[in-house]
Amino acid sequence: MQDGIILNAIVLKSTDFGEADKLLQLYTAEEGRIGAFIRGVRKDKAKLKFAGQPFCLGEYIISRRGANGVVTNCTLTDSFFDLTMDMSRYYAACTVSETFLYCTEEGFSDPRLFVLLLKAFKELCYSGADTETVLCKFFMDFLRLSGYKLSFDRCAVCGVEPYGKIIADFRHGGVMCASCASGGHALSVQIYNNLRFINNTDFEQLSTLRLTGESLKETLRLLYAAQKDNLGVNLKTITNLL
Ligand SMILES: [Zn+2]
Repeated sequence: MQDGIILNAIVLKSTDFGEADKLLQLYTAEEGRIGAFIRGVRKDKAKLKFAGQPFCLGEYIISRRGANGVVTNCTLTDSFFDLTMDMSRYYAACTVSETFLYCTEEGFSDPRLFVLLLKAFKELCYSGADTETVLCKFFMDFLRLSGYKLSFDRCAVCGVEPYGKIIADFRHGGVMCASCASGGHALSVQIYNNLRFINNTDFEQLSTLRLTGESLKETLRLLYAAQKDNLGVNLKTITNLL
């Protein structure tokens, strides 16, 4: 019998602590975001070295005898090691991690968010989908699961499919037709189409989309702005991708 509870967790952040320890920020399926120490993992031959690495997914055994949890064992599920081999995928994975760090409540469990985190890492690590496309989809789903139901293909107010002038107003529900909008800014047809395609494609099918070029970057800027407008959090790593 292991001493402690078993949590399925992903390492969002890993900070050096003391001489050889680390303080981990984990996102768990069972308890949402939690902090936990992991002892001695900066020593050369540490058995649990892998469990203190960013992006690591595993079954963590956490003992709670003291004020803070301590990782006493871990069974690796996936290290998502390849995320560290490509700069743009690495920055995208850091952006996803930062979103969970700063835009989720500590100790508040939402298994749907855990699944979203897993899907985003899997797509970034293993599929051929464009990094920007995966991040766009991630922001759309993260906002929806956080209670911001934005419309990306029909007018958020009257429900018609907008034509002619299309407006984006993500503070007030999303895409709008010209007669309903009272603020926001005009969208090009290309960016409107990007939003629709990404919104209507499952995570696992994103690699079938080919939305390259400046319009895709512009779509990502727009969705990051939507995230900032609604959640009020500035992320750091994403500036490398915009
Ligand atoms: Zn309308």
